[in-house]
Amino acid sequence: MAGEPYSYQDASGEIAAMAIGASLWGAYNQSGEFGQNVTKPGRIGCQYGYVNLAWQPTSRIFPLARAIGLRVRDYQNAILVNQAGVRFYDETKGQYTANNYGDVKPYTAGSYLNAANLKYSPANFLNAAMAGTGDASNGGGPIWAIFDSEAVKREEWTVTPPHVDTAAGYFFSGNTIAELAGAIVNKYQRKPMPASALQNTVTKYNSYVDEGRDPEFGKPGPKYKVETPPFYAAWATPVIHDSRAGLRINAECQVVDLNGMVIPGLYCGGESAGGFSLHGMARCIVQGRIAGSNAAREAKGA
Ligand SMILES: Cc1cc2nc3c(=O)[nH]c(=O)nc-3n(C[C@H](O)[C@H](O)[C@H](O)COP(=O)(O)OP(=O)(O)OC[C@H]3O[C@@H](n4cnc5c(N)ncnc54)[C@H](O)[C@@H]3O)c2cc1C
Repeated sequence: MAGEPYSYQDASGEIAAMAIGASLWGAYNQSGEFGQNVTKPGRIGCQYGYVNLAWQPTSRIFPLARAIGLRVRDYQNAILVNQAGVRFYDETKGQYTANNYGDVKPYTAGSYLNAANLKYSPANFLNAAMAGTGDASNGGGPIWAIFDSEAVKREEWTVTPPHVDTAAGYFFSGNTIAELAGAIVNKYQRKPMPASALQNTVTKYNSYVDEGRDPEFGKPGPKYKVETPPFYAAWATPVIHDSRAGLRINAECQVVDLNGMVIPGLYCGGESAGGFSLHGMARCIVQGRIAGSNAAREAKGA
């Protein structure tokens, strides 16, 4: 989550509420792709890669954040692979952003026909990353950016700490692609990345550079081969910015159970509440005020 490691968002409040019967709401929203901050990490090679938060070594939080991360200027300089070592996407591509003002054009207030103007690619990033991870398990696992030493020069990256997190397993290197695959050990990588799969991916991609086209995902004119050691793998898993799934509440911000019945004395608002797809402070402040006023009134027995 984007606020971590300053403030952890582990759903402990929601889990406690569910233990006494609370219902969830808007659960699809949790993995919906709303905006670039969700679909691509702003920084790679570090665990907390939110685009607008580059933790600096001078920060008190830095011992928790551990690395600044590398900003990718041009995704021609890296390929992205899933935990099985397989590409799944045109790395240069954008994402589904129809939740922002001005993205739906033309927009007619109150019209259901606006939906016809949503720009949505079935090959969107998260769904593509979660498909075919190769181990028959549910869920997508980590995404790794793979690149070579020439890409490091082009991007002018420094690939040592504190820029990358080698100690906790968010950045790896190897003199061969097979060695790189074998080096990837991270607590979220459920199974080792098969060296042959990563080698196959890189060999195919390099042939696309020769061909000048990417027949698999349509990356426009793949420019650079991944061929000059050392090779690198940098954590490039999306950062979740907002939590739009959460507990089901009514207009009084009372939490309700699976039957729609109010759970007495339990209120919720903001990021913990589901079913209200609005980014940011406005929702938190409004729902917080409603929940707080009602809770205070109830406590007073009014
Ligand atoms: C990097 C970043 C930038 C943002 N920028 C903007 C912006 O520009 N404009 C905007 O409108 N919104 C922005 N937002 C969104 C906005 O900050 C959040 O929506 C808002 O702060 C959420 O408020 P909240 O009270 O619901 O949750 P939080 O602010 O997350 O508060 C939850 C609190 O509960 C505590 N907590 C968690 N678990 C427990 C537990 N088990 N027991 C006790 N306490 C617990 C946490 O420590 C935290 O203090 C941004 C968010 C991030 C992460």
